[in-house]
Amino acid sequence: MSSSAPLHFQSVSRLSQMLAQNEISSVELVQTLLGRIKAYESLGAFLCVNEEVSMQQAKHADAQRAQGHFTPLTGIPIAHKDIFVTRDFPSTAGSKMLQGYMSPFDSTVVAKIAQAGMVTLGKVNCDEFAMGGSNENSAYMPVANPWDTARIPGGSSGGSAAAVAAGLTPVATGTDTGGSIRQPSAFTGITGIKPTYGRCSRYGMIAFASSLDQAGPMAHSAEDCAMLLQAMAGFDEHDATSINRPVDDYSKAIHSQREGATAAQPLKGLRIGLPKEFFGEGVAPGVVQTIRAALAEYEKLGAQLVDISLPLTKLTIPVYYIIAPAEASSNLSRFDGVRYGHRAPGNLNLEQMYERSRSEGFGPEVKRRIMIGTYVLSHGYYDAYYLKAQKLRRLIAQDFQNAFTQCDIIAGPIAPTIAWKRGEIIDDPVANYLTDIFTLPASLAGLPGMSVPAGFGESNMPVGLQLIGNYWQEGQLLHAAHAFQQATDWHSRHPEGF
Ligand code: GLN
Repeated sequence: MSSSAPLHFQSVSRLSQMLAQNEISSVELVQTLLGRIKAYESLGAFLCVNEEVSMQQAKHADAQRAQGHFTPLTGIPIAHKDIFVTRDFPSTAGSKMLQGYMSPFDSTVVAKIAQAGMVTLGKVNCDEFAMGGSNENSAYMPVANPWDTARIPGGSSGGSAAAVAAGLTPVATGTDTGGSIRQPSAFTGITGIKPTYGRCSRYGMIAFASSLDQAGPMAHSAEDCAMLLQAMAGFDEHDATSINRPVDDYSKAIHSQREGATAAQPLKGLRIGLPKEFFGEGVAPGVVQTIRAALAEYEKLGAQLVDISLPLTKLTIPVYYIIAPAEASSNLSRFDGVRYGHRAPGNLNLEQMYERSRSEGFGPEVKRRIMIGTYVLSHGYYDAYYLKAQKLRRLIAQDFQNAFTQCDIIAGPIAPTIAWKRGEIIDDPVANYLTDIFTLPASLAGLPGMSVPAGFGESNMPVGLQLIGNYWQEGQLLHAAHAFQQATDWHSRHPEGF
């Protein structure tokens, strides 16, 4: 990002330099952003802030820097999706069920980020329990897209996306179960990466579908995502599915040179696979054009485009919408009004208490998924739905391994359309589910995927290019995204009025 951008749109790497050179303090930076968060409250991006806590963290960060104890991230502000539990801020998962809930501990990702010296600005809005793709399912308020406030910012990490796009925070955490980092990043013109399943700890991330949920950063550029992912990733003994494997040096990966690459062709020899299923019917013409233009840029950078196929793409929707609700119905059974969460008032017997607490605490989409999940797991339907979906999931993962014999990364659109208007398809759950078609495959396979701003489509709304890598190839994805961002300026465009 150019150094001429206003302070609130500066990249993490630039802010880090400014802090190191005493051009600004963390306290000043945090004050500026808290002021902006207040000024743009109507976007609905933040669910809560706590000035006292943030200022205290900022002062501490400034003191640490002054004493020479710092990381590149010390004093840099961040916002956390309200699905990560935090000790100093309420954690609601966008649900009435958890209104006002104070966690006794910080989730691992939040703790690691705090250890790196970052300052929490507050918690950002999301679809209830991360179920959704438009942020209209938040129990508190919908989030507006800064590029057109009548449109949705995507979801479920829509608060994170809108906050970064509007310059309320330089970076935010998100979570992606079936696309919730990538799709809102695409819809708001920012960069986001969902790492390989198991790369970041899920400990303290309020669970939606445990075999799919994964945390990742959302920021203006691949370079900033690399810095953040470095702080977030790593093994955690509190999460049995986190993988005990060294974390790559992502910033180094970004600046590394491919063998045979030249200054003009930094991606020489990189084979990019284009699944024909991602370019078929139903993709908006403006989206296809933008993606094709981005791919032409990749060719100029030396990459070679190869046609591939992911034949089971269509089936990822039914498979995901069986597996995710099945896991959700089990995960959400803990909200019974007894241990934590909303409890219906009044003189009720046990059964009435469960029933009313859950009826009042959960919103319609969450209830729908609990019902679907309970049904597909029930005796008599388990084999026909859940087991079959699990078998298909394995084949979907296999499709990718076949594809990766022909290419190094896979590219295509993130979503078939640009961000739609708020209310446009809210009453049609299936229409919502269908929009996830291009993000679900990598989720079901557990592969890393990212969204890179690629230009503008219909109604001049941002379009995101999806890059999918093989397991543990986050460094390669970030490198490919960074090379594109060195050659284009889509990632440094900002919505007007912010
Ligand atoms: N839109 C998808 C869903 O509704 C993905 C959500 C997510 O990744 N958290 O389930």
